Amino acid sequence: MQAQLKVAKPAGALNRPTPRTNALQKLATPLSVLERRTHPSGQSSLHTTGTFAAGEDICAFKPKQLLGQPTMYSVQVSEDTHIELDPEILRYANHSCAPSVFFDTAAGKVVALTDLQAGDEVTFFYPSTEFKMSEPFSCGCGSSCCLGTISGAAHIDKARLQGYRLNKHISDVLLS
Ligand SMILES: [Zn+2]
Repeated sequence: MQAQLKVAKPAGALNRPTPRTNALQKLATPLSVLERRTHPSGQSSLHTTGTFAAGEDICAFKPKQLLGQPTMYSVQVSEDTHIELDPEILRYANHSCAPSVFFDTAAGKVVALTDLQAGDEVTFFYPSTEFKMSEPFSCGCGSSCCLGTISGAAHIDKARLQGYRLNKHISDVLLS
């Protein structure tokens, strides 16, 4: 997710090489298929370095740390659990109301929602994982379907949410 604030982390918790587990070996490592770009404004964005077809897996992720509360960078994976992402580069994926990828928290992978060319921005719909966000913001995605203020799925009309692919912990709450 977008990095605008620095969050204190335990010393030594950062910058460790990503362990290559069996699960990760099935998919390309994010560092080989994604790149972070930093803009003069200080904002960052995440971009592909190769092509992907809609529906194709882009990369895997797993928890670096489990959290009981959301933070600026966390991704919600269940009703009461949030994670910091490993690899960390995925936190630079911006939100869009017309997203290019889906963060599948059950499978631990990033999936293309649209055909992507090398250099295209990787964006996801934050309310597809977040029920109530710690840092609401005014969206500037510019899409014709832009929802305006993004503060989590809890604050979006159910009819509009149904147009999006959502993780189960979000859709379960909406349907209950
Ligand atoms: Zn928007």
